[in-house]
Amino acid sequence: MKKSPSIFNDVIGPIMRGPSSSHTAASWRIAKMCLEMLQEPLKKAVIDFDENGAWAPNYREQGTTLGIDGGLLGLDMTDHLMKQTERVAAERDISIAYEVNSFKTNHVNTVRLNLTGINGKNIIALAASLGGGAFEIQELNGFEVSIRGDYYELLIFTNEETYNLDDIKLVLPEIKSLNKSSCDGGVLMNVKLTKNISKKAWTLLKGNIAFSEVVMLKPVLPIIAGNEKEVPFKTIDSLVEYSINQDYDLGKLGLIYEQSLSGLSINEVNDIMVEHVDIINNSIKMGLQGTVYKDRILHQQSHLIDKAIKSGKILNNSIVNEIIKNVSAIMESKSAMEVVVANPTAGSCGAVGGVLKAVADELKSSKEELIQAYFAAGLVGVYFANGPGFSAEEHGCQVECGASAGMAAAGIVQLFRGTAKQAIDAASMAIQNMIGLVCDPIADRVEAPCLGKNVSAAVNALSSATMVTSGFNALIPLDEVITTVSNVSSQMPTCVKCTGKGGLAITKTACNIKAELSKQLR
Ligand code: SF4
Repeated sequence: MKKSPSIFNDVIGPIMRGPSSSHTAASWRIAKMCLEMLQEPLKKAVIDFDENGAWAPNYREQGTTLGIDGGLLGLDMTDHLMKQTERVAAERDISIAYEVNSFKTNHVNTVRLNLTGINGKNIIALAASLGGGAFEIQELNGFEVSIRGDYYELLIFTNEETYNLDDIKLVLPEIKSLNKSSCDGGVLMNVKLTKNISKKAWTLLKGNIAFSEVVMLKPVLPIIAGNEKEVPFKTIDSLVEYSINQDYDLGKLGLIYEQSLSGLSINEVNDIMVEHVDIINNSIKMGLQGTVYKDRILHQQSHLIDKAIKSGKILNNSIVNEIIKNVSAIMESKSAMEVVVANPTAGSCGAVGGVLKAVADELKSSKEELIQAYFAAGLVGVYFANGPGFSAEEHGCQVECGASAGMAAAGIVQLFRGTAKQAIDAASMAIQNMIGLVCDPIADRVEAPCLGKNVSAAVNALSSATMVTSGFNALIPLDEVITTVSNVSSQMPTCVKCTGKGGLAITKTACNIKAELSKQLR
């Protein structure tokens, strides 16, 4: 593997409210970090998107404004006030405006933030959302940076172009990296650290007359980078070999992977997964109880399955019924702005949680077994994150529902008590079935055909896990399948990559639905 994604930073999570992890969660994280950079209370923000980027046509409908508003208002992503950010901004007399303009970017999901504080301080930041809530702040006041929210970031501004970097290393021996960027005669030194600096070091840096400003930013991701220990496997082949040598299943390997990567203890890593799974199961419960939200296309439907069973209209005792119920319930919680876990994205958050609960309930698996299934799913997601990643704007739905199908298939094999090799093969088979899947959300809402695709991903995961565990041959190894996803996406037109310009999104009915929703919101 080239780099090492984390299960909690990059695959299972963030814990969030809102329709889309790339639009809402990433933009919340970007805005939160930019607010910290401002170093004074916000008065005015002008946010713009490039006219040729993927966000320009749908940033409001897909929840980008919601994430940015929330981050700039200092709200936690799970705060119920996230449902009313415009009202909160008005009450606090903070102006947040959104525009579409033309500017240079290197990623389709780029946003520019121009923030002014109550004392007149101004910052301009350029950032990109990379899919599934991952992001990169790429530019700050003209200085090139690479801030992804996984480190403590120390920003030291100076006008001394020849400042000796070794002086900073003397004050901060625990530095993980130090990057220098120049712009208009000024210099920004960006120091990455795994923990906050001591009071003594902070006082020394703040008192250094060579520095015009010193700012410390806290990480926004759950797993802090820089504490990695060596993972005992890298490629998928070496993972399978290690699993055979150690007689470990994929769930155990997922736990070992995240423990090695985070530097946390096994118990700490396990506890984080328990928290995520509890939230997922709660979103199923909440969805089944019934959710209400004005601005959505599909209102509660998850209860219809039980009704249909009672009236004898559909098969009784079918696990597919439970899968549809659970997946729909998660998706309904998401579209009602309740707290969900992006898994691997918010748009595809229903499949893994919905099918793993259905299968675990059917098998009467223990909570511990369910947690292990999530580690198996998470590890498949890590290989995906290391390949194309989870940005539908770059690769279509094959990296959202396609990836979730593969993750869920591996989790189901884990619940079946299958081997790591079987789990990996089941993931391969499930993803193969979804290669080329387009992203064409109706009326720019992440609801339809997203719901149907999540259900299909979940049922596909179960059939793939069943086939492979029974001895069917997945034929193409998982690493080749993941590479194929990237290759196919380069052959797919932009109009079917979450732009609202192709696929079902431009059918007559979809256009009518969009027009009707706009009317209702006026
Ligand atoms: S179609 Fe797929 S990728 Fe596109 S918004 Fe819906 S779930 Fe996400």
